[in-house]
Amino acid sequence: MRIDKFLHDQQFGTRAQIHEIIKQRRVLVNGQVVKAYKQSVTLDDQVAVDGQIVGQQTVFYYLMNKPSGVITATNDATQKTVMDLFATDDQRSDLFPVGRLDKDTTGALVITNDGQLAHRLVSPKSHVGKLYETKVTGKITAEQLQSLQAGIVLKNGDQVTAESTAIVAQNENETTIKIVLHQGKYHQVKRMFGALGQRVIQLDRLAFAGLTVNGLAAGEYRELTDEEIKMLN
Ligand code: URA
Repeated sequence: MRIDKFLHDQQFGTRAQIHEIIKQRRVLVNGQVVKAYKQSVTLDDQVAVDGQIVGQQTVFYYLMNKPSGVITATNDATQKTVMDLFATDDQRSDLFPVGRLDKDTTGALVITNDGQLAHRLVSPKSHVGKLYETKVTGKITAEQLQSLQAGIVLKNGDQVTAESTAIVAQNENETTIKIVLHQGKYHQVKRMFGALGQRVIQLDRLAFAGLTVNGLAAGEYRELTDEEIKMLN
């Protein structure tokens, strides 16, 4: 973003006042005097006015409604990643996604540069709640619903449990079901339904750690509010 916009966002006055401050050579970016108010800065740059560092926010938290077809990674030589969906002004080299959604999975994904928080959220001990809505092949029986909640043994011997399940719609050929998980094993939803003989056709994470994607179109993201950040900590 332009340095004058950056300073305007930081409440340094009107554009005219900011242009004057710049003209007076009082603004430095990474230690260099800013000579043009059109100069670009990124969130990685250190901006100082009159020797005081400005807007030095160090941790960033975003919630994205991940679309299908992009991978959950920071960069990739051939495929589009969730980080490619960030607007230039929000791009930072230290941001990364918390956990992973498959390429064809949509929904709630937290992206941050707070390594400690990310570690806590994905740690096997964290038990963060994740609400998924999934469409699977076939009809789910009452016994299958019961076994999802009682615990299912996956092919590799892992025991996994759904905290709750709710059928949204079903017919002979497919079932749409909501499922809340507290573990975060690799391909967990697909493997759970696979163990029941069903195949996941569509998978959407409606909420992660209480953060819902309501109001975000596929591919959109927003910063978390202070309350939401507190809730995660
Ligand atoms: N479970 C899966 O199988 N895939 C995901 O992307 C998330 C949970």
